[in-house]
Amino acid sequence: MTTDGGTGSVQLASASLRLTADSDEIAHLVCCRDQPWRVAFCGFESDTINMAAEHVCGMCVAEVERLLPDVYEQPSPRCPKDRRLCPTLFEVEKRVMREVSP
Ligand SMILES: [Zn+2]
Ligand SMILES: [Zn+2]
Repeated sequence: MTTDGGTGSVQLASASLRLTADSDEIAHLVCCRDQPWRVAFCGFESDTINMAAEHVCGMCVAEVERLLPDVYEQPSPRCPKDRRLCPTLFEVEKRVMREVSP
């Protein structure tokens, strides 16, 4: 096993996402069931998952509100794309662990 010394280069062949923790970064929203988790609702493409972000992309929020206008009135979280119930946080965390493992 080798490490590339953190040059920051993006390896397109790599299937896994990188987990980052940057509270200053803007978080983009993805559908919890999307395959793969790369393109956000606003169209932004990313190869990282930032679980520490404190700010959410306004364009992503606008797109979610457009797809699901009553998103804030749902008794439990629903997917804006297919309107089915979102997986539990536990399921999402398991998915995150799968996505970031090499
Ligand atoms: Zn976005
Ligand atoms: Zn979803």
